[in-house]
Amino acid sequence: MGAIVAIVGRPNVGKSTFFNRLIQRREAIVDAVSGVTRDRHYGKSDWNGKEFSLIDTGGYVLGSDDVFEKEIDKQVELAIDEADAIIFMVDVESGVTGMDEDVAKLLRRVDKPTFLAVNKVDNAKRMADAVEFYSLGLGEYYTLSSINGSGTGELLDALVKVL
Ligand code: GDP
Ligand code: MG
Repeated sequence: MGAIVAIVGRPNVGKSTFFNRLIQRREAIVDAVSGVTRDRHYGKSDWNGKEFSLIDTGGYVLGSDDVFEKEIDKQVELAIDEADAIIFMVDVESGVTGMDEDVAKLLRRVDKPTFLAVNKVDNAKRMADAVEFYSLGLGEYYTLSSINGSGTGELLDALVKVL
């Protein structure tokens, strides 16, 4: 199957936009244990000749903020379990949120390559705004715009190096 890369992060940061930009082929994966389709999207992609599977998490939750956060935690933990590398996406428009901090806390304990991707950096001004994401304690970050494609190449270059 090759390496598995999971995209995690709170809703609306642009995970699905990024996923859709990268994948060539969608796969519906049925959970062997529960027999239900998992609430995640799988796709195949490749970069610099290296193939990998991508998991787009989220896009599922209805209910209170509380349920919502638990569901995100669950998706992050699942992704951590099955992925070889993790892209943690955040949104420069909204800046750092409490939910970002919760996800960062989970990821800081994980011994897998993790890439902090600051999305919606559509212009140079937003590049400077991205600096606040250092506060998540995950070190260096990659800035990108999933809508116009800028910055995605740098992130993918770094990603495929660890696969
Ligand atoms: P998800 O919930 O994390 O999967 O986020 P989506 O991919 O559904 O995107 C949420 C919203 O952000 C949509 O309105 C997208 O068009 C928008 N969006 C995604 N990427 C970008 C980006 O790079 N720049 C801007 N300005 N908007 C974006
Ligand atoms: Mg989505």
